[in-house]
Amino acid sequence: MGTEGMAIQHIRHWIDGKAAEGTSGEFQAVTNPATGAQTGRLPLASVDEVDTAVASAAGAQREWAKSSLAKRTQVLFKYRELLDRHREEIAELITAEHGKVRSDALGEVARGMEIVELACGIPQLLKGETSTEVSSRVDVESIRQPVGVVAGITPFNFPAMVPMWMFPLAIACGNAFVLKPSEKDPSATARLVELATEAGLADGVLNLVHGDKVAVDRLLTHPDVDAVSFVGSTPIAQYVQQTAVAHGKRVQALAGAKNHMLVLPDADLDQAADAAVSAAYGSAGERCMAVSVVVAVDPIGDELVGRIAERARNLRIGPGDQESSEMGPLVTAEHREKVASYVPQAREQGAEVVVDGTGYRVPGHEDGFFVGVSLLDKVTPDMDAYADEIFGPVLCVVRAGSYEQALELINSSRWGNGTAIFTRDGGAARRFQLEVEAGMVGVNVPIPVPVGTHSFGGWKDSLFGEHHMYGTDGIRFYTRGKVITTRWPDPSDGGVDLGFPQNT
Ligand code: NAD
Repeated sequence: MGTEGMAIQHIRHWIDGKAAEGTSGEFQAVTNPATGAQTGRLPLASVDEVDTAVASAAGAQREWAKSSLAKRTQVLFKYRELLDRHREEIAELITAEHGKVRSDALGEVARGMEIVELACGIPQLLKGETSTEVSSRVDVESIRQPVGVVAGITPFNFPAMVPMWMFPLAIACGNAFVLKPSEKDPSATARLVELATEAGLADGVLNLVHGDKVAVDRLLTHPDVDAVSFVGSTPIAQYVQQTAVAHGKRVQALAGAKNHMLVLPDADLDQAADAAVSAAYGSAGERCMAVSVVVAVDPIGDELVGRIAERARNLRIGPGDQESSEMGPLVTAEHREKVASYVPQAREQGAEVVVDGTGYRVPGHEDGFFVGVSLLDKVTPDMDAYADEIFGPVLCVVRAGSYEQALELINSSRWGNGTAIFTRDGGAARRFQLEVEAGMVGVNVPIPVPVGTHSFGGWKDSLFGEHHMYGTDGIRFYTRGKVITTRWPDPSDGGVDLGFPQNT
């Protein structure tokens, strides 16, 4: 992993509307996964630096909460325009530090912008409810007000989209935000934050601190942080939720996944194979909505595996910035080693390795973190490849004798993020969507990521806390309810009455 002769980018925090050098003396390398070379030097925030960011947010929030919805939407529309203008640049930053191919990076920016577009409609989304004359001359109004300071902690796999699931809506609701992005690929996230200031967002409303557990722990326990939005792996999500709740904060923590795609015998097998390959190997399997298990219902197993294998063998793997690449490298060398280790282990545990990508190398990029795609057939739930979230391009196929058996398998998973059914039978699809235990269901749609006007989130160990992200749930999470009961008395009203108020 050489750095000789390469310019190393010095990455900075963004506090109170401007860049801030790291002062903790702690730094971490950021690498380009396609070359293995260090490209950035990331400051890791100390407790004092996090405190400075939170103080800036708390100060700014008091004024921002009073800003008119007209003012907020002006900033958000301008922000949307800037993102549109800079989408190629943001995608390049994603590819350079995450590794995903350019088209995938552009897709992530577009899906993130959907939530900015949603936030542009905040006057409509924040409309309250009124009931007139609930009692004599009494009206009741329900309104929603900001929570205060929100902390956002985000994963490496969507450095632009996942932060945009959070801060645009939080800010539109009148909160201030402190964002702690992944330390693996922070530059795209940093650019998103700078552009918000350029769009006219008041200083301190959106702050960025880079860091590791030290920074996260301070955000989870800081008395002036009111809410925490987290997306990441299951153990950390659980830790984040428990710690922040113990410190009096509301928390939404979206976590890991193992998404099953159920293929019934009547499905169009070419379409199902296309979908499985796209959803399993896209972004090198580093998506929380990746399909990692295909459940093939008898008797189509052999036929389906054959079609998936044929497509998998023809995928073009290479650096994300090369037009010809369909799949890039994994994010780090350690992650590549871990992902690759599941294939021989599955073979030892009795799976059939139909495609083995573990030895794959990209000529000229021997130091990059590439791995080929793997396909494991006849996997059973006791195997590690089935039980763990691999988060790489390893697709497991489990055979099932019937729809009921397949459903039982899916519902016994500890995770319940996304799932899909492939069939031509509307009745079976309807049954599945009602019976399956997962937060997001696709019918002939392998990666059912909801549009911005609906909410994103899983069940079971894929979510800690009760709110999903964005959509209606996002608005509820980032606001508190208040109910106002008003009486404008008649001159005839009056008199002391110690009885409990009744509606007459
Ligand atoms: P991660 O849990 O390692 O890291 C997420 C964030 O937590 C990062 O900002 C990281 O700095 C911080 N963190 C890591 N260890 C910590 C610790 N011990 N204490 C405090 N903070 C810590 O996740 P990742 O590897 O960056 O992302 C991949 C994971 O995220 C996968 O499990 C994937 O399924 C999940 N994910 C879930 C969703 C979803 O919507 N459910 C979306 C994207 C990713």
